[in-house]
Amino acid sequence: PGTTTDEGRRALDLDRAHVFHSWSAQGSLAPMVIAGGLGSTVWDGDGNRFLDFSSQLVNVNIGHQHPKVVAGIQAQAALLATVAPAHANLARGEAARRILARAGDEFSKVFFTNGGADANENAIRLARLVTGRDKVLSTYRSYHGNTGAAVTATGDWRRVPNEYARGHVHFFGPFAYRSEFWSDSVEQEGERALHHLERVIQAEGASSIAAILLETIPGTAGVLVPPPGYLAGVRALADKYGIVLIFDEVMAGFGRTGDWFAFQNAGINAEGMVPDLITFAKGVNSGYVPAGGVIIPPWIAEQFDDNVFPGGLTYSGHPLAMASIVAALDAMAEEGIVDNAATIGRDVLGPGLAALAEKHDVIGEVRGVGVFWALDLVSDRGTRAPLGGTEIGRLKSELLRRGMLPFSADNRIHVVPPCVVTADEARQGLAILDEALATL
Ligand code: PLP
Repeated sequence: PGTTTDEGRRALDLDRAHVFHSWSAQGSLAPMVIAGGLGSTVWDGDGNRFLDFSSQLVNVNIGHQHPKVVAGIQAQAALLATVAPAHANLARGEAARRILARAGDEFSKVFFTNGGADANENAIRLARLVTGRDKVLSTYRSYHGNTGAAVTATGDWRRVPNEYARGHVHFFGPFAYRSEFWSDSVEQEGERALHHLERVIQAEGASSIAAILLETIPGTAGVLVPPPGYLAGVRALADKYGIVLIFDEVMAGFGRTGDWFAFQNAGINAEGMVPDLITFAKGVNSGYVPAGGVIIPPWIAEQFDDNVFPGGLTYSGHPLAMASIVAALDAMAEEGIVDNAATIGRDVLGPGLAALAEKHDVIGEVRGVGVFWALDLVSDRGTRAPLGGTEIGRLKSELLRRGMLPFSADNRIHVVPPCVVTADEARQGLAILDEALATL
């Protein structure tokens, strides 16, 4: 649809000649051409169609080419395509108001950024300024972005070649299936992880710690849904030691868990506690235009009523991004898209993936909620040894051959379709997974 094989070939040729890619050795890359998309489907340069069970980088929550979002961007482009951040602009105010309405009454302001990494940079900056402290605690199994401080806060390998910023300390969050704490149960994992965090706080010196930065549900690290009570326990530690609690909702927020924000999910936060700062990007406008931001409560915002906030970006609150946020959030509300994510997770993906685990020994664990799932694949269920890269590569090819674009990380396949995925599409995806897993 809309593309010729020649255009597809040219897209690939130009890419290989001139485009430098993220997180890759460049020499042997053979990127798939994505020529177009609609809803939960994308097609390549030859017109082959795929169910997009990656949502690209887990960001296309509203699906591809949602007409209301495209129209919102077009209308804003015709009106005013760019404006400096110092000016007031209607689209920006409307976007901020809508985001705050979903975050809750505890928050009053939004600082807009270009994406998730700089949202975390600015949340960390705010936490340092309001506490007068320096250190940031974050978990080993996390991803917070690729800029200076955000990448240093990151817990995975991407941190190591980028460790310039000082004052970052890592700890282990809960992960019962691969416990660092010799736990026998999810409850024990939560309790021991909290004990470990408190000991890290004490050992680092509580008075030096500005922030605890946590992905509400660590995403790229494997959709590590925290045990009930863990987040409330972290909140209590942050309060006890005067530390700002930042939830990174870049991947988990805006519908992915079947809630507007993952921290609003009763399964992981029955206590209903709220963080001090929330960072967001991806799902807020499904990435139609780059955008992110920090959601700020009055007690932090007010500290900058008379003091200068030493941060800013040329494109903070860019009108095309703001118009896409307004249109995306309105469409998500009008069309019940967040509820759809919850329903699909509860009625189709949750039970369907559990049934696949019954059938295929290679699935060690299924974790997730809403349209945010991971299959933790193992070569041996007893030892839980992660499945090797060769097999994962083969599985990805088998999925693609059957018409599914998957998201894979380490030994896992993440099942992360758009929040608009239909029950039929979800079942089709499960059938493809079933067939492909059987080839292993
Ligand atoms: N935080 C989380 C939880 C993420 O998943 C990501 C990206 O995957 C980021 C931050 C970084 O966002 P961006 O790539 O927009 O800078």
